[in-house]
Parts: sequence; structure tokens; C-alpha cells
Amino acid sequence: MKPKLILCLALVAMACLTTARAQPLPPAASTNVLLWPTMDYTKFMAGHPDEAKRQQMWQYFQVVEPEAKSFAGTLDHWKMLGTITLGTTGPKWFSSGRLQLGTGSEYGTMFHEIFHNTFNGSQFHKGGDNAWAEAFCDAFRYMMEKKHLPDPRTNWFLKVDRYADETYAQVMATSGDKHFDQKYCYPASLIVHKAGKDPEKFRALWFELQKLRETKNADVLNTYFGYDMQTGQPL
Ligand SMILES: [Zn+2]
Repeated sequence: MKPKLILCLALVAMACLTTARAQPLPPAASTNVLLWPTMDYTKFMAGHPDEAKRQQMWQYFQVVEPEAKSFAGTLDHWKMLGTITLGTTGPKWFSSGRLQLGTGSEYGTMFHEIFHNTFNGSQFHKGGDNAWAEAFCDAFRYMMEKKHLPDPRTNWFLKVDRYADETYAQVMATSGDKHFDQKYCYPASLIVHKAGKDPEKFRALWFELQKLRETKNADVLNTYFGYDMQTGQPL
């Protein structure tokens, strides 16, 4: 081969490698979340007075739980969600693998609680980054509502969607509950904004930030989003 041709081939190979490195790492191709252990319907909101409503929730559980698993990436970052119980003390996630919902809980509330299971097994479950749990669970909720729920959009979705286009000052000027919005909807809207309101970009961002946190072995989220989660103020 002529030296010029060899040089060209080498440049093409380098360009390919550079492109491959720039992409966020997706979960291993061999990871099939559908093969991971999953909840039995008998453990899902047992005792619900409205069986039709229970079954509608179950349909969405079967769609969104695999999504949450895929964000976990590998089985060692996921603890099986074994039960969803009914309770009247508000929606809750337990590290034992149980969720509590009410009979009137919205689909999106379930999406949020399911993602706690992913966040807890992620790189962010340490240091100051752990304070971003509620924001990421709400960002996941936004993306799952966008991807899977039929129109019309929920009021919750429309609020976060609007926040994603507004400044901190604008959000706080109309917030009915500043303390809540500082911890949940506003930082969630920063994530949604960064992901261009796009579920697939959100997935890429999640894995990119996981990698960053792992590589630096230090908090990354406050700096990345320009928001101090500990004080509820922009940096
Ligand atoms: Zn939560």
C-alpha cells in the first residue's frame, strides 16, 4: 500500500474511535431486563376496591418498571420491586423493595416511586448527589408521562414543562409551595431542560452523568446543573 493510503486509513480509524468514545455508554447489549425477576400481580395493590382501576395501573406498571430497570443498567444495580401495598399515609418507596400507593394515586406518582428503586442503586446514591433523588424521580416521571400516557397531559406534567422554560425567579414568583418546588419540580425541570424534553436524550444524559460520577468519585450534580440542592438556590 502507498504511504498516503495508509495514512488515510489510519485517520479514518482514529475518527471512528473518537466518535465511539464520545457516545455515552449504554447498558451492555446482553442485558435483557425482561428476563429480570418481576412482581406477581397478586402482590400488586391487593385489596383495591376498584379492580378495573387496579388493572389500568398494572398495565402501566408493566411498561414503566422495565424502563426503570433499563436505567439501572445491570441487575446488580437493581433490587426487585416485590410488592405495592395500599396505604393512606402518602406514596412511599421502601428500600426493602416495596412501594406504598393510595387507591387514588396517579400513574405518574407510581412512575416517580418506581424510579427511587433505580436511583438508590445508582452512582448518585452517595454524598451530596443523593439529595437529587426527588428531582430525578420527577424527571423520570415527566419522561414516562410524555412517552407512555395518552393525551391530555396531566396538570403536573404541564407545570414541570412550563418550569423547564422559565428562570428560577419566574418559577418562584408563581410557586404555590416554594420549599417543595426547590426540592422536586424546579430541579426536575433543570434536568428536563438539559435533556431537551426528550426521553431518549434523558436516558443518554443519565448514563453520561453516571459515568462522570464514577470517574470523578465526587459529587457532580450541583455543578452540572448550576443548582445547589442543599440550599435550594441557583449556584
Ligand atoms: Zn420521592
